[in-house]
Amino acid sequence: MPTVSVENYLKAILHLEEGEEGRVSTTAIAEKVGATPASASAMMSRLGDRGWVEHERYYGVSLTEKGQRIAMEILRRHRLWERFLVDHLGFEWDQVHEIAEELEHVDSRELVNRLDAFLGFPKLDPHGDAIPGPNGRFRSVAARTLLAEAPRNLDLVVVGVVDGGDAFLRHLGVLGIELGSRLTVMERHSFDGSLHVRFADVDELQLLAPSVCARLWVDQSNPAPVIVFPENDPPS
Ligand SMILES: [Zn+2]
Repeated sequence: MPTVSVENYLKAILHLEEGEEGRVSTTAIAEKVGATPASASAMMSRLGDRGWVEHERYYGVSLTEKGQRIAMEILRRHRLWERFLVDHLGFEWDQVHEIAEELEHVDSRELVNRLDAFLGFPKLDPHGDAIPGPNGRFRSVAARTLLAEAPRNLDLVVVGVVDGGDAFLRHLGVLGIELGSRLTVMERHSFDGSLHVRFADVDELQLLAPSVCARLWVDQSNPAPVIVFPENDPPS
């Protein structure tokens, strides 16, 4: 059974592998978990002995299939708990990460599967990140684009944030942006990549900084369904 600290290492490697192709360095892992390079290095040997990582000196570290399965399970717990905290306990999306960091270490597959079912098998956590299913794979998520790269003059909807750090989420609160916000890119400024956007139901244009545009996932918003009542049969 992996300990909390081992779980945090495996999760850190999973996150780092997402960002870059192939192996990750022990230094990067140490930084991510807040340990010294020496203790991260020692941990990699131990994880290697258990068959959870492949660790080659000078070439870095990668998760084995077994290690990957454990890391995805932790991610699954983390994101389901975040969903639960927001949907059922009334937390804001910038308040749940730290709590989920604790809850993710409660190691009961039965609990997590029941939580998943209770929530209705959600695909996304409150930050728009995909939740792995019980098989350790992500449930399919619609194609999405970074706002920084989105075309102009399309109706877009905010579907996720790239870095769900609390400070960024609070900043989005100041800007009045949340998941589901609808907007259109009106103008892209080549000088610094800032965007003039128009939010649905707001007349004025709003200028968004490049750092914000690079961290918001958007999708083309579907037009609202048109409900047609049959003739001679008015709604009661
Ligand atoms: Zn989180």
